[in-house]
Amino acid sequence: MTRTLIIGGSVAGLVAALAFADLGHDVTVLERDANEAPDTVALAHSDWQRPTVPQMHQSHAFGSLGTNLLRDRLPAVHQALVAAGAREIELGRAMPPTLADKTPHPSDAELRMIGSRRSTFELILRQEALRRPGISFRRGETVRGLTVADRGPARVTGVVTKDGRSVAADLVIDASGRRSQGTEWLREHGLAEPEQVAQSADITYYTRYYRALSPRPAGPLNRGFGAGGLWDHYTGVMFLGDNDTFTISFGVLPDDTELKALRIEDAFTAAVRATPLLAPWVSPEVAEPISPVHAMGGLDNSLRLYGQDAQPVPGFLPVADAVCTTNPAYGRGVSLALAHVLGLADLVREHPEPDAEQAALAAGLAGRTFRPWFEDAVRNDAGRARLWRATVAGQQLPPLPPDVITFGTVAEAAATDEVVWRRLARTMMSLDNPAGLYEDEEIRLRVKQAGASGPPPFPAPDRASLVDVVRRAAG
Ligand SMILES: Cc1cc2nc3c(=O)[nH]c(=O)nc-3n(C[C@H](O)[C@H](O)[C@H](O)COP(=O)(O)OP(=O)(O)OC[C@H]3O[C@@H](n4cnc5c(N)ncnc54)[C@H](O)[C@@H]3O)c2cc1C
Repeated sequence: MTRTLIIGGSVAGLVAALAFADLGHDVTVLERDANEAPDTVALAHSDWQRPTVPQMHQSHAFGSLGTNLLRDRLPAVHQALVAAGAREIELGRAMPPTLADKTPHPSDAELRMIGSRRSTFELILRQEALRRPGISFRRGETVRGLTVADRGPARVTGVVTKDGRSVAADLVIDASGRRSQGTEWLREHGLAEPEQVAQSADITYYTRYYRALSPRPAGPLNRGFGAGGLWDHYTGVMFLGDNDTFTISFGVLPDDTELKALRIEDAFTAAVRATPLLAPWVSPEVAEPISPVHAMGGLDNSLRLYGQDAQPVPGFLPVADAVCTTNPAYGRGVSLALAHVLGLADLVREHPEPDAEQAALAAGLAGRTFRPWFEDAVRNDAGRARLWRATVAGQQLPPLPPDVITFGTVAEAAATDEVVWRRLARTMMSLDNPAGLYEDEEIRLRVKQAGASGPPPFPAPDRASLVDVVRRAAG
């Protein structure tokens, strides 16, 4: 029986554990966090200490690519999530109120999402993995290096833990997330290593959790899974969660000194109230806060792939955030993690031998899964950060040439044009390749026409007004 060892027991590691156990592998997960998971989703929200997964406290949108994979490939997890109170969201039935034509389209069946807190999602995954035969989950085990074959072709044969123990394996899956040391571990043995590119996503998030006191939506759900906007110096989004919870997140430039005060609860609330699309959600009769404000920065768009001439090392398979991270604003991490891990399990089913061919095929899969989204994120973030920096500095960017369309202009057009909305939704949900969106002649034409059709449907305060309300509320 193939012994598969997984480094990291968060989303990607747990999905890998389930998928490789399904292949009949003997699976061991080594997770550095020693804390046991609480029994209930309420305690998972309030008490689960996951210091190595700080994004546990941030809003998560669980996109259609991942939701569909969960339903099709891990139905027990999907059912358990719904049973635990996660919402099933059909974007085709929740089109923005500003669209004139809301006639259903057959392709809408793919536009499904899960509305859940990240803690609920991970708890249910962990519970499923713990009850599955063939999976051993070991908490408090930190991997600090690899073992390699001492003769014959280069190959990873297991890991070394923090206390110096070696754990042998036929396959090692690195699901240790965006701070993975995998490249350094390969380098220690003089083995081929992936090339890494990383660029700041130029955004810091401030997030607060709430419990809704009424089942009716407090305001328009222009994003289906919630409500939100991307304006000229900040973004603000409300995400529907499980069990009547929701979160509100703001994203601002990391060096936006004046809005750092968003981490103060009163300042955060003042910013929500100043943003018309979000304001109704925090009325005292509508919702109560159930967390402090959680801030998170230091976010990169990063990609670690082998170069064309490199020979990937057999027996070592990095997955998900250990390969690629993209700005969380796009809500893709979990979808891409599921697509990558389940694609890898299919690949290993076809090529069970952990040899050079398997390693080369796995490197190809990683490139196909992540590169288009990484490039899209880098391009969009550069344009968005340029606009935000200009606004913060009190400047105005020159208008775009008429033939240039950007994520921002497509998103604006999607509020009033159902064809653009569907194409954007499919791209945002990681169902369609992002490059196609900007190259499609029909979309280009529709975006240009929509651009001339009037002011944005959901305005936001200008820079001076927002800074003023935040400053005054922060005292
Ligand atoms: C602010 C923020 C918001 C996000 N929002 C969204 C969103 O809206 N939608 C979405 O789809 N995605 C979102 N993501 C991305 C998403 O959280 C990740 O893509 C997803 O969690 C998959 O991560 P992972 O399992 O690869 O890594 P992680 O979740 O980071 O887990 C890594 C695991 O490895 C363990 N580990 C690390 N090193 C070792 C070691 N040496 N030995 C043993 N164990 C180790 C850690 O303890 C941890 O449990 C967001 C991310 C951030 C940062």
